[in-house]
Amino acid sequence: MEIVTGVHQLRIPFPEGIDRLTNAYVIEGSRGCILVDCGWDTSEAIWAFREELRIERMSFEDINWIVLTHAHPDHFGMAAKLRELCGARVVMHRADADLMHSRYADLRDVATALEAMLLSHGVPSSEAAEMREASGWGAQYVTTVEPDVVVDEGDVVSNGTFQLDVLHTPGHTPGHMCLYDSRKRRLFTGDTVLFDAIPHIGVAPESGYDPAGDYISSLERINEKSVSFVFPGHGPVFNGLGIRLTEILRVLDVRQRQILKVLDDGLKDAYQVSCGLPWTIDGSEVAYADLGPRERRIGVCEIIAWLRRLNSTGEIGALEQDGKTIYLAK
Ligand SMILES: [Zn+2]
Ligand SMILES: [Zn+2]
Repeated sequence: MEIVTGVHQLRIPFPEGIDRLTNAYVIEGSRGCILVDCGWDTSEAIWAFREELRIERMSFEDINWIVLTHAHPDHFGMAAKLRELCGARVVMHRADADLMHSRYADLRDVATALEAMLLSHGVPSSEAAEMREASGWGAQYVTTVEPDVVVDEGDVVSNGTFQLDVLHTPGHTPGHMCLYDSRKRRLFTGDTVLFDAIPHIGVAPESGYDPAGDYISSLERINEKSVSFVFPGHGPVFNGLGIRLTEILRVLDVRQRQILKVLDDGLKDAYQVSCGLPWTIDGSEVAYADLGPRERRIGVCEIIAWLRRLNSTGEIGALEQDGKTIYLAK
């Protein structure tokens, strides 16, 4: 669907019947089309991409650049195949291009580092092993891709009609980028700003120390831009960016207050904090014990991120004890 003049949204399905879609955007210009994100590498997704293009009266050959907002399978999975079909060049931020091998080609080192990190935050060894097993699911639905062009903050991707500034917005991944056309006031946000969800922000072996702090800084930088339309990687296109950013920051603040409350009655590691918090699945509140191994891994990594954030801002302290990191309210 052509959402605004020159910007077409393609909706690409998730694998295994999961009821979610990735938004890919084809941006028309006088020097060809830029594709922002694509989708998983499955037969259904590639077929859906073809059909969505056809509805827009376009073909693979119209696409000259494939720009990937970040290195998650639902955004880059089919990029290598599309590059062949389109004869296009793949563009990524340098920091996420660096993850391609360790996250998707050979997972062993990252999986080992993840398990060691979980153990050092109090996760019992049997559960940490389960979480490790559950962490590589997405890799089966991607083909790794080496970008033809790596970009950094301040670079511009242009097709003659749209001038997209690269905004480096780390947090969700270390090399996440948003693309901003200041003349037309269009912002392509990948997973950093969604209308109806908040992206996963968690510590991972490759995330750096404080991804939650990075994410908040990214939101604050985005808030300085004048934007009329936001084109996110999932869910509806929207305007009113400032209102949405305020709401996201409010929800994140509520989560930090919940964590501080759990720390009120004594020293705890990240696993104990996770067990003491409420969790949400499909809109319903559940206990930590009700989560599956993959959700537990995501959850504990999220809590480590917020504990580090609260430690960075001085609201809590962190201590090393018997090979574990424990936290206390100040
Ligand atoms: Zn993502
Ligand atoms: Zn996504």
